[in-house]
Amino acid sequence: THDELAELLGSRVRDIPDHPKPGIVFKDITPLLADPVAFGALTEALAATAGRLGATKVVGLEARGFILGAPVALAAGIGFVPVRKAGKLPGATLSQSYDLEYGSAEIEIHAEDLTADDRVLIVDDVLATGGTAEAAIGLVRRTPARLVGLAVLMELGFLPGGTRVRDALGEVPYQALLTV
Ligand code: AMP
Repeated sequence: THDELAELLGSRVRDIPDHPKPGIVFKDITPLLADPVAFGALTEALAATAGRLGATKVVGLEARGFILGAPVALAAGIGFVPVRKAGKLPGATLSQSYDLEYGSAEIEIHAEDLTADDRVLIVDDVLATGGTAEAAIGLVRRTPARLVGLAVLMELGFLPGGTRVRDALGEVPYQALLTV
C-alpha cells in the first residue's frame, strides 16, 4: 500500500542536523540507496507514475535526481535526460536562472534531448523551497516537449515548496511519495 511504501522509504532517509549549515536538517538518502529493497520499491513506484502519465523521458535534477531518475527511466523503458548545474553540459543548452536564499543559481539542459514527441516526468529527491523544481519546470516548458508530471521522494511540508510547485504546474500532476 501507499502507507507501507511511505513507511519503508521514510525509515531509510536519515536526518543530519545542521548540515550543510546550522539550522538545516539534511535529508540523507544514502541509507535508502544502500538498501536494494527500498531503492527497488522507490524505483518501481516512480516507474509506475511514469507509466501512468505516459512519460517518454525522465528528467533528473543534479545530483540526486540522477541517482533516482536513471533507474526509473530504465524500469519504465523510457529515456533519461539530465538537468545540470550551469557549465557542465558540453552541447547547446537552454538555461534557467533562479533565486536562492542568498544569490542565484542556474541550471541547464541539452536543447536537443527533448523533442515535440516527448512527454516529460521531472524527478528529484527532496522538495524544499521548490525553487529548483520550479526552475526545472520552466526549463522543460521552454523545450518543444510536453511536461506531464513532477515526482519527488520527499517534500518538506513545513516549507511552501509544495504550494509553489503546484502553482507552477497548474493541471500537471505533482507527486511526493512522502511528506515530512
Ligand atoms: P529547493 O530548491 O529549496 O526545493 O531545494 C531542492 C534541492 O536541494 C534538491 O535538489 C534537494 O536535493 C536539495 N535539498 C534542499 N533541502 C534539502 C534538505 N533539507 N535535505 C536534503 N536535500 C535538500
